[in-house]
Amino acid sequence: MTRCNHTETRPVGDDCAFAGPVTREHENPAAHGNITRTERCVLCGAERSVNINGIHEEYGEWDEPFDDED
Ligand SMILES: [Zn+2]
Repeated sequence: MTRCNHTETRPVGDDCAFAGPVTREHENPAAHGNITRTERCVLCGAERSVNINGIHEEYGEWDEPFDDED
């Protein structure tokens, strides 16, 4: 089975007010303080949160709908 690269995404629902970092590994403080958006991969349905503040973005880890270890 090929692993999805999540190259095509679209926003899910409305943007929310910033509530905190969406990742522990790649924090980008410049992206904090404005809005948080949920993105969904149109290819596989995985979702992630993205903090957006102007041109600055901080991406959360992908939450894959089917986490098959096999
Ligand atoms: Zn995907």
